[in-house]
Amino acid sequence: MATILKGGEVARAKKSGIMKRVDALKERGICPALCIVMVGDRKDSHAYVKGATKALTGCGIDCHLAHFPEGINQNQLLEEINAINKNPEYNGIIVMRPVPDTIRWGAIEEAISPEKDVDCITIKNLSKLFKGEGGGFYPCTAKAVVDTLDHYGIKVEGKKVVVVGRSLVVGKPAAMLLLQRNATVTICHSKTLDLGRITSEADIIVAAAGVPHLLGANSVNRESIVLDVGINVVDGKLTGDVDFDRVEPLVSMITPVPGGVGSVTTSVLMENIVTAAQRLAGEI
Ligand code: NAD
Repeated sequence: MATILKGGEVARAKKSGIMKRVDALKERGICPALCIVMVGDRKDSHAYVKGATKALTGCGIDCHLAHFPEGINQNQLLEEINAINKNPEYNGIIVMRPVPDTIRWGAIEEAISPEKDVDCITIKNLSKLFKGEGGGFYPCTAKAVVDTLDHYGIKVEGKKVVVVGRSLVVGKPAAMLLLQRNATVTICHSKTLDLGRITSEADIIVAAAGVPHLLGANSVNRESIVLDVGINVVDGKLTGDVDFDRVEPLVSMITPVPGGVGSVTTSVLMENIVTAAQRLAGEI
């Protein structure tokens, strides 16, 4: 039986630290606040906004939705983002993906103020991440992976880590953060041959492919520590990239889905918003 690495436990441990920082800001008249930009009416985006609003307000952080119709054009949206950049009420901005085809995602990346870019999509913050410099923000899910490892006292230095997935949102930033901690990192992707052999030789596996049950019994070893970032819906149920029922009895530690890394991501977002508020107030 593996040790279950519970995201809820990590999130609870973070919550008291976040609330202390929020209280300290409020004593100085600053209310940390996020503005979520949403274009169109995707069900999953609405669900995210609802969940994020509940979590943030529960920690004293304001959450505002800037909701625009599907038909908004790119220039209009960029003007709106610019207004949010300038609005001192908001310390953080995130834009829900995907945006309609009429809007170039790259234009949004360029428009957001790096000081408010709490999900690390701007070149400036990505560059800090890839250079290993501080002072920016790390993508929330990638940071949630390393924070989960930290919470459970799992050292990565010198360990063989395989990250499955190479997106700029999860796979690559997770690999960079693990590399910064002196892990020996291999990045696998959709064209990787013999994926199971590569993952089965790793000490730590980070699965972030978005393919349900991509990793099974033959993808792990007895000592494997498995972090499943995947969020997939199969037959109406949330499931990860790892076949949990088959893999859990065979490994040393594993995160479940739901209740794993995903539960930590919102806490990292809150930490980033509070950090942004402190920086914008010149406190750090
Ligand atoms: P993405 O589609 O942008 O990238 C998926 C990556 O997986 C690609 O780099 C691709 O090369 C790789 N891949 C696809 N099929 C593969 C295969 N058969 N073998 C090996 N690699 C393969 O997705 P993303 O945005 O990086 O998200 C990945 C997963 O993480 C998704 O399930 C997503 O829902 C989930 N996610 C979770 C959180 C969270 O908070 N837990 C946050 C963001 C994304």
